Amino acid sequence: MCHLDRSRTVSSSCAVERPVFVFFLLAARSSGYHRAVNLKIQFQDSAAFAAPLLAVFAVDIATGDDHAPSPALLTTSDALANAAAPWLASGEFKAKLGETLLLHSPADITAQRLLVIGMGRASMLSIDEVRKAAGVVVRFARACSLPDLAIAFPEDKALSDEHMDSLPCNLTARAIAEGALIADFDIDFYRSDRKDQSIHTATVLHIEADKMSEAEMQAGLDEGIMIGHSQNFARSLVNEPGNILTPTELGRRTAAMCADVGLTCEVHSIDRILELKMGAFAAVTQGSPAPPALIVLRYEPDTPPTEGAPLIALVGKGITFDTGGISIKPAADMDKMKYDMAGAAAMIGAMRAIAQLKPAVRVLAIICSCENMPDGRAFKPGDVITAMSGKTIEIMNTDAEGRLVLADGLHYAKTLGATHLIDAATLTGAIGVALGLLNAGLFSNDQDATQRFLNALSTSGEKFWQLPCTDDYREQIKSQIADIMNTGGSRYGGAITAAMFLKEFAGDTPWIHLDIAGTAWLDDTKPWQSKGPTGIAVRSIIEWVRSYAG
Ligand SMILES: [Zn+2]
Repeated sequence: MCHLDRSRTVSSSCAVERPVFVFFLLAARSSGYHRAVNLKIQFQDSAAFAAPLLAVFAVDIATGDDHAPSPALLTTSDALANAAAPWLASGEFKAKLGETLLLHSPADITAQRLLVIGMGRASMLSIDEVRKAAGVVVRFARACSLPDLAIAFPEDKALSDEHMDSLPCNLTARAIAEGALIADFDIDFYRSDRKDQSIHTATVLHIEADKMSEAEMQAGLDEGIMIGHSQNFARSLVNEPGNILTPTELGRRTAAMCADVGLTCEVHSIDRILELKMGAFAAVTQGSPAPPALIVLRYEPDTPPTEGAPLIALVGKGITFDTGGISIKPAADMDKMKYDMAGAAAMIGAMRAIAQLKPAVRVLAIICSCENMPDGRAFKPGDVITAMSGKTIEIMNTDAEGRLVLADGLHYAKTLGATHLIDAATLTGAIGVALGLLNAGLFSNDQDATQRFLNALSTSGEKFWQLPCTDDYREQIKSQIADIMNTGGSRYGGAITAAMFLKEFAGDTPWIHLDIAGTAWLDDTKPWQSKGPTGIAVRSIIEWVRSYAG
């Protein structure tokens, strides 16, 4: 009865605009993010390269907390080392991460300016500092209106082994590209007086090496370009306001991107959602006049997969605006709720990169996108709805809507044959209470899948922390009148409660849940990255997927 009522209201609410079952494969429209920055690597002496700005990396090789900083350049170029030597000796530059020192008209160097960038302690150095420092170079150059720059490749052999671990040259090249592209992104798309400060060319310079190392560096740089652009594509989606990026528009932009990179994309709306009996997804969308979008992306490797090969499914929460529904949110900071589709954006961005990196594994992405609005037709606390899996859900709070759309997305992925599931969602405020705004939350029912994800973090540089998701927490979601309820019986451990809810729908299939509510948006600009959408999870998901490649 309840189900029939709901179907009717949902259909009628869509009478105004009716893209009921739509393929947008050929509907090319601006994807909102197109950059033509010319990022390349050249094998030559950096001191002899003509550029308005040449950047070189520095680390602090002092050991122990009491020692005065001892900055050293990561270059084998004597000209660069000589130009910076007096300033490094003076003590005014300490090589802290992100610290800069600008020298004009340096002697014996062709570039007009030499910028020294700190990367922090040599003993603590990882690829992530390279990524950030490359970002600092780009944001420094943008602020000085110097759109053409060069970067001297950080050479670990400039220091003896006791100071630092070696930096693999392919990952270093990749991190430079990622860091440069991530830094070259700002959020002021809609300002009439917007100044386009984008970088035009960034040339990475490495002295001639053996052919194999050169090929590795080139390949790393190429990968970094694909991944950096894909992360920015995700960020550009998250940055869009809710009135512009409706679920339909998210479908359109995703389809346009898929057409560009050669992915299959289907965009469905309410009729298909009802046909699939996605009762949880349908309940969330029914309070909004904007039609929902069920977006399905498929990547197939060039070589056909063998029998029993994995099919990875990425499932994204795509709430393009979350008011909380009838359990409405307070007014303060509600504007930020345009970001409630950051999980969907992460999956779409990851798929963009996967299409270009071409791992030998099948990948599927399912995006459940709609608005969560208060309305006479909206779902209400106390309602009982039936998810696609057949489970009944008592609604305790309509603001816990992300887990509802994901429940149907996860189940749908399984019906399509998914062997491994991963979801990403700005799911709970509680994750920020638990972990602060630095680490995102990771929950799983499978330690092998988890370990692969944790391994991916050393390459991606992203921070995720595993939290428990064991069955003794299941008490939290027990309902008096239905199979489960959508929020916990107590306010404690809210992020775990949400994960336990999703676990019901993952079942026995290996599954990872990423709660990125605290990390998908940066409130303050960093020296290497603008404030606004971060694109968190894109890089880690890519690496995790690649770990399954045959
Ligand atoms: Zn919500």
